[in-house]
Amino acid sequence: MALHPNLIGGEWRTGEPFLNINPSDLGDVIGEYARATVADCRDAIAAARGAGKAWGLTPPQARADLLYKVAAGIEAEAGKLADLLAREEGKTLREAAGEVLRAVQLFRFYAGEALRGPGERYDSSRPGIEIQVTREPVGVVGLITPWNFPIGIPTWKIAPALAWGNAVVLKPADLVPGCAWELARIIHEAGAPPGVFNLVMGRGSVVGAEIIDNPGVDAISFTGSVETGAKVLQGAAARGAKVQMEMGGKNPLVVLADADIDRAVQVALDGAYYGTGQRCTASSRLIVEDAIHDRFVAGLAEALAAQVVDDARKPGTTIGPVVDQRQYEQDLRYLDIGRGEAHLAWGGAPLERATRGFYLQPALFTEVRNDMTIAREEIFGPVAAVIRVKDYEEALAVANDTPFGLSAGICTTSLKHAQHFRRHAEAGMVMVNCPTAGVDYTAAFGGRKASSYGSREQGRYAVEFYTTVKTAYQAM
Ligand code: NAD
Repeated sequence: MALHPNLIGGEWRTGEPFLNINPSDLGDVIGEYARATVADCRDAIAAARGAGKAWGLTPPQARADLLYKVAAGIEAEAGKLADLLAREEGKTLREAAGEVLRAVQLFRFYAGEALRGPGERYDSSRPGIEIQVTREPVGVVGLITPWNFPIGIPTWKIAPALAWGNAVVLKPADLVPGCAWELARIIHEAGAPPGVFNLVMGRGSVVGAEIIDNPGVDAISFTGSVETGAKVLQGAAARGAKVQMEMGGKNPLVVLADADIDRAVQVALDGAYYGTGQRCTASSRLIVEDAIHDRFVAGLAEALAAQVVDDARKPGTTIGPVVDQRQYEQDLRYLDIGRGEAHLAWGGAPLERATRGFYLQPALFTEVRNDMTIAREEIFGPVAAVIRVKDYEEALAVANDTPFGLSAGICTTSLKHAQHFRRHAEAGMVMVNCPTAGVDYTAAFGGRKASSYGSREQGRYAVEFYTTVKTAYQAM
């Protein structure tokens, strides 16, 4: 089996191998990947520092051309990449294909942004002076990414970083090195100058920690858990590095009595369970008005019974396996806690399939109070909790009563309540009659409270993180 090496300063460098295992079939080893060391990471950062200056000064057209080429490279291999993504992460082929397409769209979008170079010109309040406010690259950016969007999240950090002239060191999650490696290969083959893009596939506590602490890294963009985020923030603050973090969620979906019930069930099913519930924007708290509660629960239970939990790459599968043993055990632990504090209305059983994998029946709890553990902590699995409320005011209060603030949704046909919720939900993203998960790449992405820190990702908002502002005064 060929070893997939790290990419450091334009060279492929081997290392101690680790295995990438298919969660739908534990007997299926996808590949061997080289584990980067601290020394590898330091070399990657040094290479990025060496190449970054020149890259930041290349004409925007050259940067745009590279990004368009990367987009074309991903598109040309879209089928193969979607298959690899489903195989290493466990989301269905349909979901994986959507994520690969998103990567193509993101590279194209930021190619355009490279050409649109932001900046402003002012006449000074003093006579004879002109002012220019321009944006320059931050320098070397360290990108630390989670496993649940193996190509989507690396891409929505890499594309704006390169577009605005930064050099990149990417550390993907250990569980999904495959997509990150293919992405690195495509960027390399597209002609990225040596050192402009580097891949280090190492452990978080080793390579991730080096990225945080190394003074050669000017800015860190992190997506992952709240616990790791706390370490990232501490390390970045200690040396004054720029930092941006996207972390967990406990996203509410409010269902009011006047909702279109079929739509509400579909919105809840998609938001809570697709992607095996392993999305930071998953609707894990379903806050339902008393008058529609029983009908909604019955409808959702019926929809869950129709789901097909099986091999992610099998046609007809609607929910793939849980990503790995550790996450599977975490889900089972929360199911036990939930059985102790609420009522398990549907599902929650471990499942056996033709191949050995981490299969879990989606679970729906009812009679949940918002102060229970399953309503407070992020489970990150196919588990949702229904909280019964008497009216809209109580629903809004419960929705906002959480340490998190990433995404919040409401299903209603009332314009008044939809508008009020959009204004008063304490979340970075608000969804009316659509799932809490599922966003556009052209708009700002991010949350409030414990969910996020620093400036927004995606769309034109990413310019805030990947550039630094310069104000120039010139006497005429
Ligand atoms: P994680 O925090 O365990 O790991 C994220 C990344 O950090 C990985 O690359 C990991 O190797 C690295 N890491 C681990 N320890 C580190 C350390 N000490 N120093 C530096 N880096 C370290 O998260 P995960 O399990 O990969 O992903 C699941 C979490 O990610 C969930 O909490 C989920 O909500 C969150 N997430 C958030 C968003 C968002 O945009 N808000 C998106 C996807 C996932």
